[in-house]
Amino acid sequence: MASSTQVAMNATLRRLEDKVAVITGGAAGLGEATARLFVRNGARVVIVDIDDEAGERLVTELGDASARYVHCDVRKESDVAAAVTYAVSTFGKLDIYFSNAGIYPTSRTSMDNLDMDNFDAVMATNLRGTVLSLKYAAKAMIPAKQGVIICTASIAGMFGGMTAASYAISKAAIIAAVHCASAELSQHGIRVNTISPFSVATPLTLKSFRQEVIKKLNNRELAGSILTPESVADAALFLASSESAFMSGHNLVLDGGFSTRRGPAQ
Ligand code: NAD
Repeated sequence: MASSTQVAMNATLRRLEDKVAVITGGAAGLGEATARLFVRNGARVVIVDIDDEAGERLVTELGDASARYVHCDVRKESDVAAAVTYAVSTFGKLDIYFSNAGIYPTSRTSMDNLDMDNFDAVMATNLRGTVLSLKYAAKAMIPAKQGVIICTASIAGMFGGMTAASYAISKAAIIAAVHCASAELSQHGIRVNTISPFSVATPLTLKSFRQEVIKKLNNRELAGSILTPESVADAALFLASSESAFMSGHNLVLDGGFSTRRGPAQ
């Protein structure tokens, strides 16, 4: 039999008991780590992605009672609308929407040589996908007069020169979209916040950067520790839970202090 201390610990661990969450880009990387953490904390999650194999595999592992998979391309309005409808009709409501799906440009070129097809592709997933998510999450949450929306941006959206311009511009625009949504939706009891991580070793970055580059960046900037998908999931859990009840319009930066540095040129 569990001791009273164990029971109390389990209760405090389940910080999203009975909550229903949609997670876009939930089949891999930061979204997958967040789906696992949300389920461990008592939430039922709808994992939204275009990678059907990875999405189905994850829900099989998490169990039918806690997780469902929906194929949804966040660039398509009808897909995003259908994913939200599915979450509400399957689990009865929508409490949390984690807009996290994102891509990195296939090439990094200078501003004067920007490949506009590549730019449009990045904006379609990263920005249009986020804005559609804000739109349909808001539609579902306004009548309920409550809800939490979290969007993944990046510290690349806060500075120039860190990474490909199209990616940085899309992430800066996400931070602005969250400000707009927060300002409008707070009157309906809905909180909207951004998470801006430093480089994390996930399929996205491993595809784009060599692993040793990520390690080197992390080792230098974060004093030896490496930012993991699980650390980002912890931040998402905090923003999704009542522990952040008065936070809205905030950009939660996870960069180990990188963006506060103003040292001499090295
Ligand atoms: P990832 O590639 O590991 O996972 C992204 C998931 O999104 C994949 O499962 C992919 O299939 C899905 N996806 C891609 N396009 C989609 C679409 N159109 N519709 C639905 N799903 C789609 O990436 P990640 O590293 O976990 O990144 C997640 C988010 O975090 C992204 O928005 C990324 O820009 C952001 N981010 C990542 C890092 C990092 O270093 N990994 C740092 C800062 C911000």
